[in-house]
Amino acid sequence: MIEKFLEEVIILVAGKPAEKIASLLDDKKYVNEFTIAKKMDLTINQTRNILYKISDYGLVSFIRKKDKKKGWYTYFWKIETLKCLEFLKNVLLKKMDQLKHQIKSRETKQFYVCERCNIEFNEENALLHNFTCNECGGIFSMKDNSKVLKELNKALNKFDDKLKLIDIEIDKEKEKKEKKRLRELKKLEKEKKEKRAAARKKTAAKKLANKKVASKVVKKANRKKSKKKVTKKSKSSKKTSKKKIVKKNSKKIKSKKKKK
Ligand SMILES: [Zn+2]
Repeated sequence: MIEKFLEEVIILVAGKPAEKIASLLDDKKYVNEFTIAKKMDLTINQTRNILYKISDYGLVSFIRKKDKKKGWYTYFWKIETLKCLEFLKNVLLKKMDQLKHQIKSRETKQFYVCERCNIEFNEENALLHNFTCNECGGIFSMKDNSKVLKELNKALNKFDDKLKLIDIEIDKEKEKKEKKRLRELKKLEKEKKEKRAAARKKTAAKKLANKKVASKVVKKANRKKSKKKVTKKSKSSKKTSKKKIVKKNSKKIKSKKKKK
């Protein structure tokens, strides 16, 4: 169904000879214009002219790449499916409006006809002609609108069915786009999370490294301190022992003096 709709859109904006381009364009991947030209059996300029026409309506989009050796640009094209469907829907709605207008006029106004020449007049024109045919001189008869109305209503119903089908395709396309958007959002969030996690790891590693350095410094400092303490302690203990000895000696001397 969608292929048919896209073809119809291409014919509407670029003419019947461009019809085939609809099936050559993708709506996900960009297609090289030279590939399109070859498959269409057209020159590159003819192909570009068609694509530019369609692009004027925003129904195709392109990217271009520069050929580094030759210095010119090659265009790559993609069809905008949702925009095409919305374009077709608008065309259809306009046609339906016209039909509804015609139906209303057939339902409310009287028409006259020369049955021999098969020419139709509305009431004002019939009055101007005095209800007499210019061509054959015959007298107009009142037109039976029921047949025309039946045809018009039939056409309107057909358009209405088509509109429903287009709406289904539009909904599908919108859903696809929404899914794609969510996928890309998820991907982005995942990337953000990963970046944040990596950053956290980095800072954690830095902190750990700093801690290690710090603890080493502390340990070194502690070792130095404890060494100093040990040396102080040993010195002081030696001193006290010396003092004690001196005291003891002095006691001995004192006692010796007393004995005398
Ligand atoms: Zn006539």
